[in-house]
Order: sequence, then C-alpha cells, then structure tokens
Amino acid sequence: MITTRFAPSPTGYLHIGGLRTALYSYLWARKNEGKFLLRIEDTDLARNSQEATVAIEKAFEWTGLAHDGEVIYQSKRFDLYKKYIQQLLDEDKAYHCYMSREELDDLRATQKANKQRTKYDGKYRDFDSTPPEGISPVVRIKSPINRVITFTDGIKGEISVNSDDVLDDFIIARSDGTPTYNFVVAIDDALMRMSDVIRGDDHLSNTPKQIIVYEALGFEIPKFYHVPMILNSKGQKLSKRDGAMDVMGYKDEGILPVALLNFLIRLGWSNGDQEIFSKDEMLELFNPSNINKSASAYNYEKLIWLNSHYIKTLPYQELIEELKYFDVDISINEKKEILIDSLRERAKTIKEFAQSINTIIKAPVEYEAKGCKKWLKNEWKEILTNYVEYLKNSGDLDLPEEFEKITDDFMLKNEIKLRNLAQPLRIAMVGSPVSPSVFDVISIIGKDELIARVEKLITEK
Ligand code: GLU
Repeated sequence: MITTRFAPSPTGYLHIGGLRTALYSYLWARKNEGKFLLRIEDTDLARNSQEATVAIEKAFEWTGLAHDGEVIYQSKRFDLYKKYIQQLLDEDKAYHCYMSREELDDLRATQKANKQRTKYDGKYRDFDSTPPEGISPVVRIKSPINRVITFTDGIKGEISVNSDDVLDDFIIARSDGTPTYNFVVAIDDALMRMSDVIRGDDHLSNTPKQIIVYEALGFEIPKFYHVPMILNSKGQKLSKRDGAMDVMGYKDEGILPVALLNFLIRLGWSNGDQEIFSKDEMLELFNPSNINKSASAYNYEKLIWLNSHYIKTLPYQELIEELKYFDVDISINEKKEILIDSLRERAKTIKEFAQSINTIIKAPVEYEAKGCKKWLKNEWKEILTNYVEYLKNSGDLDLPEEFEKITDDFMLKNEIKLRNLAQPLRIAMVGSPVSPSVFDVISIIGKDELIARVEKLITEK
C-alpha cells in the first residue's frame, strides 16, 4: 500500500513549492488507492503560529487536496518521542553528552584552524565516569563510524555518503528534553507507515541522519523522492516578487485552483509536451519517478495562459461558484450563459472576469471621458431617443438576435450607421465604448434596463 504525506512546518504560509510537493504526494497516493496524510511539524514552538496552520488547511481546502484521517501535530507527540529517546539510551544506541557550549565552541574553532570539518568529537560516546556538575546534558545518537550509507532516491538515483564525512553523533534531544527535527521526522514517518516520502531536495542532506534513526529504532526505511527546487526566470531561488507567495494569494488574484494545480504538476514533471491535464489525467499519468532531475523555472505567463484556458472551458456552475469570491453572485439562466460566454474569451483571471461582469450587470456610475468626446456628438441624442422610442413600440424582445433584427430595421428606416448607434449605446450601458457584442449586452440587461440607462446618459450629458 502506498502511503504519502505532506509535512509542512507552520512558520509561514503555504507557498507554491510546498503545494507542489503536496500535489505530487496526493496524486501518488490517490492513484494507488493509498493514503495521503497531513502532518504539521510544529515542534519549534517559538516559530510556529496557529494562524499559519489554519492557512495551510485553508489552502488545502481551496485546492481540493483532501487528506486522509486526522491531521497529526508533532507538538502533541512529545511523550511518544521521549519514549523512543529513552529506548535508545537503554539500548546504548544514544548517550548523554555533557559538553558545555564553550567547550563545543573551542572544539569547532580548533577544527576550523586545522581546516577540518567541524563536528562533535564523540567525547561522551563511551564515557563511564562521573559527569561534570551543573550541566543539563543533551542526548546524542551513536552514528556509525566510517560506514557508507546508501539509498536510492526515486529522482536523484543512488546516493552514497560516508558517515565520517557527513555525520557526527548528532543531537536527538536538547538539554531541555525536547526532541530534534531529524529524529521526530523519522519516527513519525515510520509510525505513520510511510511508504514514499516526496519532499523538497533541500531535505536531501537530512536523509542520511534520518536513516541512522530508522536503523537505530529498527524501523523500515521508506522510499525517498527529493524534488528539485522551483527557480525564477533568472535561475535564482524563487522570491515573493516572483510568485513565492501564499497559495491563497493566487486565489485573491483570480487564479482557479484547477489552473494552479495544472501549472504545478508541469513545474517539474511532464508527459511528452502535453500542457493541459484534467485531474483524472493527472491521476492516470503521474508517477514520481518521472519528476525532472533538474530545477524548473517558474513562468507566470504560463499560469495565466492555463487560467484563461480553464475560464474558457469550465462549466457555468463552477465559474459561478468562483465568481462569488469576487462579490459577483449570479444564478444561471439563459441570459447569464450569454453573459459568461460573451466575456470568458477575454478574461485572464476570475478577478478580471468578475470586473467585466460587474460593468454589465451594474449601471455605470461614470462615463469614460475619451469615449464620450469621440462618440457623443452631432445628433447622438436624437438617434438614441428615437431608438428607445422604437424599442418601446416593438413588443417583447429577449434574445440577442431579436434585438439585432429590430435594430437593423431601425437603422435601415432612419439611415443610421451601426457605429453611430452602437458606440453611444455602449457608453450608456457600460460607461465606455468597449464591450462585447452590443446585442449580447442589450439582451443580458434587458429592454427596460437598457432604456433606463440610455435615458440616464441623455439626461447627464
Ligand atoms: N517540515 C519540512 C518542511 O516544511 C518538511 C519535512 C519533510 O517533508 O520531511 O520543509
């Protein structure tokens, strides 16, 4: 059974790099009918915030990455970690170390001066005399001496390190008894029965330490996939300005969750040159073994391109749900379908889409000066007054083609060119001479509202 997890540290908001690893872990578990778990790594009590945890869960909800079971909080598991620290002490696989801060600093300084790697020298590893007084000891694990630690990373391939080169007897419990990061990660991944750990490659160097913990406790080691970073277009680490913002910031910009997930799956993984992936296709095709070995470049234009694609193709009801976030609350009917279809071709974001819908469904409060200067001249008032009169006498009109037919008759009878009528009408209806098909807009707002807006413009200008 495949079990994966996402294990954020709630020291800040969830950013897109995190969401990408979450997506990969989610897809891999779901594809295999396995489990996808959420673990909040909140042992650093000083740096964590409840707000950040809530923000992470919100982002999960928005993007639809549902996790299985209860959320696991490391901060609630200290007793459990203590039990394992004691077990390792009892089995002589870990020991108390009484080295003072000053002594450790001196040791490091000497090693540096001798151009050696700075590491703990194992002074208390086999210590059996009386410990110095007044020092609360830390607990260190006994790392293997001069042993090659090898594991096969699902993305990076075989990784081998010599314990003497990269490890020392690292601390598993601080002097106040709190456990350290690499210790608890290994315990939790083992107890949560993780089969596959998919995470950022900034954790690659932690993996040998975690393997030491698995081995000391006799736990089975999961398969690791270390995903390369997302970089900006200049090949640097992604900054806030490039898009490394809170995932919910994308919602505020009007990005659809489906577009964001599609964007993220491609950022580091591909299936030929396919760009658009439905969720079903993601599930069918994704495999972490095909994740790119090299870092991928963030490209906002691509995200916008995907977003426009989904705005053009999403079912009405889903778009309507998304529009609510931008205070556009419409229910679907034939007119609203016309409204959506006349605007969705051009919208890059839901925010923009909502704005353009508002310009049609709400009467304009002001009129664009440039457009008025250009189009409200000569006999425009007379044309609009006659047009309104003509409509009033034309019975019930509803669909765009009905308005188009009546308008053609009117123009023919009065020898009026379309633009001399259509442009002032647009200004009356949306406040500027730019709008989708004038007959679509007339049909959407309806005859009475059109007449009211035209009369308002005539009075005000
Ligand atoms: N808590 C770590 C982080 O947020 C992730 C640890 C892991 O995935 O093993 O970077």
